[in-house]
Amino acid sequence: MKIKTKQILDQYLFIRNEIDRTCDRLHQEHKENTKCRKGCSDCCMNFSLLPVEFISILEEIKDKEVKLNIEDKDKCLFLSDGTCQIYAHRPSICRSHGLPILNMDEEGENMELSFCPLNFQEVEIDYFTMENGYQQDTFNSKLYLVNKEFVNSYEDEKFTENQLIDLRELSNYLKK
Ligand code: SF4
Repeated sequence: MKIKTKQILDQYLFIRNEIDRTCDRLHQEHKENTKCRKGCSDCCMNFSLLPVEFISILEEIKDKEVKLNIEDKDKCLFLSDGTCQIYAHRPSICRSHGLPILNMDEEGENMELSFCPLNFQEVEIDYFTMENGYQQDTFNSKLYLVNKEFVNSYEDEKFTENQLIDLRELSNYLKK
């Protein structure tokens, strides 16, 4: 892999760390109102990833022994025995599981709020603010820009900047 491509992957990890810091702060802030715990895996669907994230995770786990969930195709490939088998390397979307998520609506006019129905059962709607929600678009914009650089630089495979890759496809690259 070219040095330039490695540097772009480092930029992706820098953003992922920033996402972690934000999510850690918000998880702390909401801990009284969330029921997230080890063994609850309702969020662990089969996600699609930008190429930069897909290849970054592949680079991190390709030499590890990872138990894969091959059978249940509606669930994540890495959900096994009720736990994430790649927790330290999991995609950015997984890091905000359980938090109130804020997104701009399709018209670009209003913010939309979503959250897990198991959480926040005891709060009124005015509990949620711009400050205590995870502003997903902010981080998605950063990921989109670093992904654009990545697809132009990566030579092992040809990806396009709007491409999303099914996380389950990682099983084709990993040791069985
Ligand atoms: S990578 Fe881990 S946290 Fe993310 S959906 Fe899969 S099992 Fe869940």
